[in-house]
Amino acid sequence: MHKEGIHKKRGSKDYKTSWNFTLLYKSDNDPQIERDMEEIERTCVTFEKKYSKKDFISTPSKLLAALKDYDGLEAIVNAAKPWWYFALRTDSNSDDTKLAARSTHYEQRLTAATNRIQFFSLKIAAIPQSKHRALVNNPVLKAYKYSLERAFRGAKHCLSEGEEQLSSLLDQTSHTMWVDGGQKLLNERTILWKGKPIPVAQGIALLADQSMKDRQILNTKINETLKAASDYSEIEINAVVNHKKVLDERRKFSKPYSSTVLSYQNDDATVENVVATVSKRFDISHRFYKLHAKLLGVKKTTTADRAAKIGSIKRKFTFPEAVALVRDSFESIDPRYAAVLDQFVANGQIDAYPKKGKRGGAYCWGAGKEHTFVLLNHVDDITSTETLAHEMGHAIHTELSNKQPARYRHYSTATAEVASTFFECIAGELIEQNLSERERVVFLHNKILGDVMTIFRQIACFNFELELHERIRKEGQLSKEVMAQLLSKHLRSYLGDAVTVTDDDGYFFAYWSHIRNFFYVYTYAFGQIVSRALFEKWKADKSYAKKIEQFLNAGGSMTPEDIFASIGINVRDPKFFLAGLKGIEKDLDRLEKTAKKVWK
Ligand SMILES: [Zn+2]
Repeated sequence: MHKEGIHKKRGSKDYKTSWNFTLLYKSDNDPQIERDMEEIERTCVTFEKKYSKKDFISTPSKLLAALKDYDGLEAIVNAAKPWWYFALRTDSNSDDTKLAARSTHYEQRLTAATNRIQFFSLKIAAIPQSKHRALVNNPVLKAYKYSLERAFRGAKHCLSEGEEQLSSLLDQTSHTMWVDGGQKLLNERTILWKGKPIPVAQGIALLADQSMKDRQILNTKINETLKAASDYSEIEINAVVNHKKVLDERRKFSKPYSSTVLSYQNDDATVENVVATVSKRFDISHRFYKLHAKLLGVKKTTTADRAAKIGSIKRKFTFPEAVALVRDSFESIDPRYAAVLDQFVANGQIDAYPKKGKRGGAYCWGAGKEHTFVLLNHVDDITSTETLAHEMGHAIHTELSNKQPARYRHYSTATAEVASTFFECIAGELIEQNLSERERVVFLHNKILGDVMTIFRQIACFNFELELHERIRKEGQLSKEVMAQLLSKHLRSYLGDAVTVTDDDGYFFAYWSHIRNFFYVYTYAFGQIVSRALFEKWKADKSYAKKIEQFLNAGGSMTPEDIFASIGINVRDPKFFLAGLKGIEKDLDRLEKTAKKVWK
């Protein structure tokens, strides 16, 4: 825990370590908050009045005028400033329940306002398919080409306006509340650990730091707790997967992952390519776990050890030191990226330290032309420093994407993780140079472990989800025992022979929140492999920084496939992902060689 306040930065400029909310509003009682909310509501009502009963699709020029109007509306509505002001306030101080209540209040008004304009995209989606090609290629609509392509791509899967509204309203009771219920149930369960009851999440977080024997005991307790809670999870998973099945059939999605892939603007073929390529190279993660066991001094490990640390790194990075290091690494690509970081710390756009009532983890939140905010929980270690670089990667991506018109500012999650992990990788390189050789073994091990978790574990998770959905679709329901067996099978597939996986390990399905956000895990693997390619290209030729900027500027103006193709990366080519995985093999070679020298 740190005391908040002002730190002196190198170069003596003062900077802030907690959020400066006055960048948004003067105070919680600023009358501008209500005025902004009313403007959003008014804009939506005006738009609805103007267009809901009017023909705006029969000619390209009518469509152009309407799209322009909609652009202006999006710029106001998407910023959603009153709501996210209170959402940020809540995240920094959840003890004040009044803040959470006001956040919900504005969120509900925002939903009500945007429901009024849903008709617009539905009407465009309803334009007959025979007219799509002519409209997309019409020079009058050139600036909106990709918007239209996206709308038409999604059109095949749209339901009627009434059905769409019903489905979004019922999502709360048929998915969200089921998942929340499971979460609540698990949050209330405790594990008796060293004489004290601790929550399941804390038990899982503690695993990596225990002795091997204690890890085993703790893991067994976690499994027992999850198994005992799995009666609920069984019904929950059957319910949410079947709910999705009903919708997918109505929406004419052919595969369980197709709707997710479409929402991230990817192609099914690209995702199938990543999944197949990574699955074919599970031998890389097997090799890692063999080496992992060796570095731990044993022949075989268990799932309890899968993220175990092999040693510690003494080198600490206080927040000012972390900022200085990350700044230097960003400067090596382009001084303008370092300037963004300078501006963030000077303005108070980063909330740096953990504190009571503050939300855990880390994120970057930005929308439209407003200031972007980064939340951290910096604890002076290397991971915290990498997290700063990661979240600032998102922040830079967000700031540069803001150059796009409103319709293209929002980027796909599939490109988001490329930006963040690229900047993280650049900072990681500089961190490594600050370490002793023995510490470097630990660092490199942690880095590869991170890659294995981001790429191989997430793809094994994808494979598990796919089999789960396919079998529930075919068989109606699955028992919790079968769900656990399935997960154990897929855990074995990427962990390999060096790791013993029991059937009880599969009860982790009751806890794994990823599988409740269907199939999105592929974006992690995709992002990590593509960012590695960017890094290698930049290492080989520093002028590639221009192409990286081009990608960061692109926002959501093209599909991720096209954005990367425009900078010389063909994610449609199966060989591309194969080459990306070779980079991890190279790291493994390096780890093996260094460990031989300095590890006992
Ligand atoms: Zn991220």
